[in-house]
Amino acid sequence: MFSKNFFSSEQVKQIESAIKSAEENTSGEIRIHIENHCKGEALESALRVFHKLGMHKTKLRNGILFYLVVKDRKFAVAGDEGIHKNVPAGFWDLVRDKMQEKFKQEKFTEGLCEGIKMTGTELKKYFPYSTTDKDELSNEVTFGAK
Ligand code: CA
Ligand code: CA
Repeated sequence: MFSKNFFSSEQVKQIESAIKSAEENTSGEIRIHIENHCKGEALESALRVFHKLGMHKTKLRNGILFYLVVKDRKFAVAGDEGIHKNVPAGFWDLVRDKMQEKFKQEKFTEGLCEGIKMTGTELKKYFPYSTTDKDELSNEVTFGAK
């Protein structure tokens, strides 16, 4: 099964609308990438995807990627410089735990949406939304080729 078919189109819409809502609180840019397999460390692959998607090109360097490997059951969060400078690292442990708890129950959509929501609320503190805000990175969920 292609990673793309792991979620129904309804679920993908739900995730994308969670991103949209979260980005109404913050200028931070959230993206989701889904893959079936990943060799080695999930974080390394996540960083590769992060660059491939041009996520390091936001003005405030506040892009954040949730990288979920569905078949190999791996997961990582990759953030840009602005994120690391501002958000305490412990926050991401919290988000990860919360999301993984849902993933273990096979509630992938719910887990992602919850993580996205938490991230939007947290990023609001450091990168509040402004009326001049642009959607610098698409809210579309991306999938690996297989
Ligand atoms: Ca934005
Ligand atoms: Ca966006």
